[in-house]
Amino acid sequence: MKYIFVTGGVVSSLGKGIISSSIGKLLQARGYKITIQKFDPYINVDPGTLNPFEHGECYVTEDGMETDLDLGHYERFTEIHTTRGNSVTSGRVYSSVIDKERRGDYLGKTVQVVPHVTDEIKRRIRREDDPTEYDFVITEIGGTIGDIESMPFLEAMRQMRWEHKGDICFIHLTYIPYLKAAEELKTKPTQHSVKEMQGLGLQPDVLVLRTEKHLPEALMHKVASFCNVEPSHVVQSEDMPSIYEVPIAMQEQGLDVAILKSLGMEVGETPALSQWRDYLARRSAATKCVRIALVGKYSLQDAYKSIRESLQHAGVYNDRKVEIVFVDSQFLTRENVAESLAPMAGVVICPGFGERGTEGKIQAAEYCRTHDIPTFGICYGMQMMVVEFARNVLGLAGANSAEIAPDTRYNVIDIMEEQKKITRMGGTMRLGAYPCTLKQGSKAAAIYGKDSISERHRHRYEFNNAFRADYERAGMSCTGTNPDADLVEIVEIPTHRWYLATQFHPEYHSTVLHPHPLFMSFVKAAVDYSGE
Ligand code: GLN
Repeated sequence: MKYIFVTGGVVSSLGKGIISSSIGKLLQARGYKITIQKFDPYINVDPGTLNPFEHGECYVTEDGMETDLDLGHYERFTEIHTTRGNSVTSGRVYSSVIDKERRGDYLGKTVQVVPHVTDEIKRRIRREDDPTEYDFVITEIGGTIGDIESMPFLEAMRQMRWEHKGDICFIHLTYIPYLKAAEELKTKPTQHSVKEMQGLGLQPDVLVLRTEKHLPEALMHKVASFCNVEPSHVVQSEDMPSIYEVPIAMQEQGLDVAILKSLGMEVGETPALSQWRDYLARRSAATKCVRIALVGKYSLQDAYKSIRESLQHAGVYNDRKVEIVFVDSQFLTRENVAESLAPMAGVVICPGFGERGTEGKIQAAEYCRTHDIPTFGICYGMQMMVVEFARNVLGLAGANSAEIAPDTRYNVIDIMEEQKKITRMGGTMRLGAYPCTLKQGSKAAAIYGKDSISERHRHRYEFNNAFRADYERAGMSCTGTNPDADLVEIVEIPTHRWYLATQFHPEYHSTVLHPHPLFMSFVKAAVDYSGE
């Protein structure tokens, strides 16, 4: 197994996740089996409790781990399925070291960062709990070189260089700022960042220079010679119109070749990446827009990252550019809902937690249902569509989710006895992939083209089966159910253009080359509805 490490220097947000994903993609195209994992220096045991306002979306793996959104990039680029092993935080590392200490595994020794914490990190980098054989394990280290928090990770990397001689490649991503007043591109921060690495005993093999302006050859050579790196191992990553162009740009500059060479491996022919290029070509040819609203409470771009990406991918395959309009549900009222949503070709009612913004989601659901606008509810979005239907069609005044109104008589969304049978690991949240059976003849079954599917979940509350017959009678059908616990996973109104909602999160399964059928169908419905 070869190990590739991706670190970042100078500033954060350089796009290490995109570079890691691109490397994965390029190595896969050469026939290698890869995995990509993220090591985050913060102390939270998992990112599930981080606020989406600050941290962006929480991504969920097949086996129900709540992770950093970078894992979404890994999957969308490479189609690998990540698991809990692909997301490791300092918190998780320390918690297992402390558990071991309490169990007496260290036999009276003083437990220290070196070697105990670093050993635990190395164990996880080597994926000792994962039986799969990979050709390459790509490990992205969160944070920036020089942060106090990331020191144990860097020390683990340093040790691995010696323990796995010849099998390690260090890639360092840095930033080349452009100083407008001086009209100059500056390499000094990069030199400092590499020096800082060298001070920790780490020498990068490959440098990726992030830049807003094209870097001249001479500058790249200068960086190479100051940083002790082969000139052909310095590549630049300019701002691109789409993150999906990055693998192509990296291939053109031979990033994969530099990695293979630094590992002493055969290089072979350059793969064509034709399917990927077709996607990009289709993407740039799609100039007509389709406007879709995201009704949610988090204005941060990254908060609904996977939903945004899924819409964009589906747009490309429908030859459209999806213009996403964020509509803040906290400010949505009966009076202004038409103004916000009437110009939309489609509306997504987003996932979420807590009371804030829920009445706005219910207003949006009512407007879309009564105006027959293509509407896609996801998780909390579905729950709010179900609540709206209860209040306005079933006549159950005050109907709500027990999450918001624990005492409501009409708890159409609540904790279900049945879900306890299937929830993993004693947690109260239903997390990760669960099977779902689709009802014959339903829109859902037609869209998927099969009757049994598996999708990922992340929620605590469920559709309350006590009300199911009332819904069916009044025209909202439950067309997807969990085969083991009979929980409702999909609802739809068959008489509508496209009014469908899922308790699960289909967005976690949508990739660049395999866009999700529900998003494909929804965007198509929006295109048809807009008539453009
Ligand atoms: N808050 C809801 C629940 O826990 C929905 C969660 C979500 O949208 N991911 O059931």
